[in-house]
Amino acid sequence: MLLQGNWPTKPPLGYNSVNVNGKRTIVINAKGKILRQAFLWKAQENLTCKAIRQRLASNGIALCHQRVADILRNPFYCGLIVHRMLDGAILPGNHEGIISKELFLQVNGILAETTHGYSIKEENDRIPLKRFLHCDKCSQPLRGYIVKKKNIYYYKCSTIGCRTNRNANVLHQRFVEILEWFVLDFPVDVLHLIKQQAIVNFNQYSRGYVEQQTVVKQNYMELQKKIVRLEERLIGEEIRANSITGI
Ligand SMILES: [Zn+2]
Repeated sequence: MLLQGNWPTKPPLGYNSVNVNGKRTIVINAKGKILRQAFLWKAQENLTCKAIRQRLASNGIALCHQRVADILRNPFYCGLIVHRMLDGAILPGNHEGIISKELFLQVNGILAETTHGYSIKEENDRIPLKRFLHCDKCSQPLRGYIVKKKNIYYYKCSTIGCRTNRNANVLHQRFVEILEWFVLDFPVDVLHLIKQQAIVNFNQYSRGYVEQQTVVKQNYMELQKKIVRLEERLIGEEIRANSITGI
């Protein structure tokens, strides 16, 4: 069904599922026409999701901020389908898009820029240890930021009330010093033996975890199969949607 471009479950906001000559068809409804405006507001005026949300509300569509962002990112609205059961594949749907693919890509280009607002590469180069380092007070991963006036980077803890804040250069220097503790100054043939032994030790210590991981993976696969089975039954209308909510 999905592979033929037919959306199996309830369509997203802006669409209705109707029966035309005994065939289930997904059609754009009045809300869909208003949602089309949301994409245009983003593309033409670069409105924030908050501003779009307000305009939609004044047009009778009340949504939370996150829903607006989700809608703008959903390729269903340009006529494509992406579904968990398709394993990440994108297919042309049999429903009409409320916007063109070009407009969808344009809007998502703007969203990607405004979400980050900075060059990811530059930030990674200057603060490579963010999320790797953890706060010594509350154990949360540290984030990095720049004080633009001074052009100095810092790592800080994002826990409210925790004041951990360190100059990045100072922490980098300290990190290099710590790495030096692990330098093994031995001849190559001895290093080779140490490496072999370290691998054996590691495998011994982690054996329990590997077994545990296998069990968790098996359980996960079972659950995935159950979900797919339930979805298939739902598509076949053997069970009603409201009887499986909460799963
Ligand atoms: Zn902290």
